[in-house]
Amino acid sequence: MPSEFELINRYFKRQTTTQQDVILGIGDDAALMAIPAGELLVATADTLVAGRHFPIDTPPHAIAYKALAVNLSDLAAMGATPRWFLLALTLEESDDTFLSSFAEGLFQLADAHQIALVGGDTTKGHLAMTITALGTVPLGQALCRQGAQVGDGIYVSGTVGDAGVGLATVLQQQNLGLTTAQQVFCRQRLDYPTPRLGLGQALRGLASACLDISDGLAQDLGHILKASQVGADIELSVLPLSSALQQLPPRQAWHYALTAGDDYELCFCLPDSHYATLMSQGWPITRIGTVSAHTGLRCWYQGQPYQMAYAGYQHF
Ligand code: ADP
Ligand code: MG
Repeated sequence: MPSEFELINRYFKRQTTTQQDVILGIGDDAALMAIPAGELLVATADTLVAGRHFPIDTPPHAIAYKALAVNLSDLAAMGATPRWFLLALTLEESDDTFLSSFAEGLFQLADAHQIALVGGDTTKGHLAMTITALGTVPLGQALCRQGAQVGDGIYVSGTVGDAGVGLATVLQQQNLGLTTAQQVFCRQRLDYPTPRLGLGQALRGLASACLDISDGLAQDLGHILKASQVGADIELSVLPLSSALQQLPPRQAWHYALTAGDDYELCFCLPDSHYATLMSQGWPITRIGTVSAHTGLRCWYQGQPYQMAYAGYQHF
């Protein structure tokens, strides 16, 4: 079993970095990076704890991928260009099989977005990891939760609720009536979220408010409404559902789409004047409703009000 320093060198310190903006990477007391002129640093951190944020049987490859993906999703939601990240890793033991699979999953996503691991910390204990992701955004162009205006369209990327169904099939040990392929799809969506970085950057200067959906669409959209002091009307019949969710009874599908966590899709508000610009770029996005002047979130189904039973995930 490798010692702490062997472990860092073997799995996390790469001999070459192609990134010009990393002045000093892993190996010193701290890393040095150059922030492009005219840009702000965007910083975010997220922790994943075994058994709480991922099922214990999750492969190390997926654990690492997801740990980075959820952080990149936060950068995407700010409209940032991702650049660097740090990894604070707590391991039960320094196990080569675990670590090689973990590093592979981590760098698969990091390389896809050309971001560099510039430092971190390695400790012994119950399996958990915190990634700090750093990016930059041109001055004045960050996407915030505040700024939605009455009349703006409300949009989501991709499909919603898949990861929630994936988690339900694991926790409840039942297939919810889905085919094996649909279950595998939902489990993939749970384990390998897709951070919408390209879309986030495309929304700079267009979206009036934006966030990523980590705790369920209803609750997270609620954060935009609160910060922007507006309300929303959304139409359930247009919620973007995967073919797996379309297999479920509508009420059950909406429940997952609105309240289940771990989607890591973007939810944003857009003035109608920017609609054509964005749509011409071909992003996988769906208009699900409209920002309104009343307070809170109202759901509709073909013109009839629809009452939700449960809001979303909260740790405490
Ligand atoms: P210090 O004691 O000064 O905090 P460490 O001995 O913990 O430094 O780490 C040595 C170097 O290795 C540092 O550059 C640190 O950022 C890096 N490092 C430690 N653990 C990790 C990790 N899990 N992933 C990436 N870099 C790491
Ligand atoms: Mg030191």
